[in-house]
Amino acid sequence: MALNPVKPETGAKLRVSVLGATGSVGESTLDLIGRDPGRYEVIALTANGNYSRLAELALHHHAQLAVVADPEAYNRLRGLLSGTGIKVAAGEAALVEAAAMPADWVMAAIVGAAGLAPTLAAVKQGCRIALANKECLVTAGALFKRTVAASGATLLPVDSEHCAIFQATVGLPADAIERIAITASGGPFRTWSREQMAKAKPADALKHPTWNMGPKITIDSATLMNKGLELIEAHHLFDIAPDKLAVIVHPQSIVHCLVECRDGSVMAQMSAHDMRVPIAYALGWPDRLDVPTPRLDLVKIGQLTFDEPDLARFPALGIAIAALKRGGSACTVLNAANEVAVAAYLDGNIGFLDIPAVVADTLDRAERGPSLPAPASLEDALQLDVSARAIAFELLTARAA
Ligand code: NAD
Ligand code: MG
Repeated sequence: MALNPVKPETGAKLRVSVLGATGSVGESTLDLIGRDPGRYEVIALTANGNYSRLAELALHHHAQLAVVADPEAYNRLRGLLSGTGIKVAAGEAALVEAAAMPADWVMAAIVGAAGLAPTLAAVKQGCRIALANKECLVTAGALFKRTVAASGATLLPVDSEHCAIFQATVGLPADAIERIAITASGGPFRTWSREQMAKAKPADALKHPTWNMGPKITIDSATLMNKGLELIEAHHLFDIAPDKLAVIVHPQSIVHCLVECRDGSVMAQMSAHDMRVPIAYALGWPDRLDVPTPRLDLVKIGQLTFDEPDLARFPALGIAIAALKRGGSACTVLNAANEVAVAAYLDGNIGFLDIPAVVADTLDRAERGPSLPAPASLEDALQLDVSARAIAFELLTARAA
C-alpha cells in the first residue's frame, strides 16, 4: 500500500473545504456535512461559474470563503453574499489560495486537469485530501505522489473502486496481493453495437444505468475511458504494477473491487451505488459515519454478474492501458485529449466513436517527436496539457469538417 495514513486527533471541529462544491461529488459531500453541522467548520467552497448555487451552499454551511473560477461571475457572487460576512473571490489564483487555506480535510472534486493546481495547493498544507478528481493522478501522478510524500498529507481515495480497495486492503501486506480488479458498470452502451454507438447522441450517453454523476465522467463511463483513468489512478494510489490491474464488467455496480491474494482469498467491497458511501468513508476515516443510503439487500438483488470488457467495442480502455504501460508523458496527453474530445462530443461537434479516435490520434501525433518524460513540476504538467489540447483540437476540427 502506498497510502500511509495516520490517525487524526479527535475532539475539535473538523475544518473542511470543498473544491468543486456545486458538482455531483461536491453536493454529496455537503449533504453529509449538513447532516452533522456541529462536527464541522466549513472553510472554503469553490465552483466554476455557478455562482447562485455556490452562494446558497456558502450561506447554508456558514462558509468563510466562496470562490468562483470564472472572474465574470465575481460581481454577482459578491452581490448575493454581501453583508453576510462570507468572503468572496474569483479566478484561478483565488482557487489556489482557497485550497491553501488551513483546513484539516479538503475534498478535491473539481473535474478535469483544472483541478490539478488547487488540489496540489491543498496537498501542500499536509492535511487529509479526499481525492475524487482522478484526472490529477492521470495528468501528473508521480508529481502528485511526491508532493503528498513531501507534505505529509494523507490521501483518502473517493472514487468508489479506489475507496473499496483502500478498505479491502486494510492490514494486508503489499506482497500478499496478486491482482486487483476494479469493476465497471459497462455504461449505457454495454450491449450496443459499434454501429449503434456511432449514432449515439449525448442525451443517450448521459443516461448512466446506475450512477448519477457530472457530464464529463458520465461520458467517460460510456466510452469506458473512465475505467482506463481509474486503472492509472489505482496504479499511483496503491503502487501496483499495470499488469497486476484488471477491469471486470459488473452491471449491478454492487461489488466495487476484487483484491486477489496469493493464498487464493479475494477481498471484495460492496455497497449500494451511492457516492455518499465512499465520501463518508473519507470524511469519517478512520471511523465510520452514519450514511442514510438504502441498505444493501443481496437477496432482493438476487444475481451479481461479471464479464470481460470488450476492447473492440470500447477501444478507449485499451488506449488508456497502453498509455499507462508506456509511461512518460503519455497519460498527460491521454487525459488532455480525452477532455477536449468529450467536450466536443457534448457540444455536438463530433460523434461518439470519434472520442477514442481523437485520443488515439493525439497520442500518436504527440509521440512522433522525442518521447517526453512524465511532468516533473506543475508548470511542466500544464504546458504538456496545453500542447496536447492543441493537437487534439486540431485533429477533431479536421474530423468535424
Ligand atoms: P461535476 O461536473 O458534477 O462537478 C464538477 C465541479 O467542478 C463543479 O463544482 C464545477 O463548478 C467545478 N469545476 C468545473 N470546471 C472547473 C474549472 N475549470 N475550474 C474550477 N472549478 C471547476 O463533476 P463530478 O461528477 O462531481 O466529478 C468531479 C470529480 O470527481 C471528477 O474528477 C470525477 O471523475 C470524480 N468522480 C466523480 C464521481 C461521481 O459520482 N460524480 C465518482 C467518482 C469520481
Ligand atoms: Mg469510479
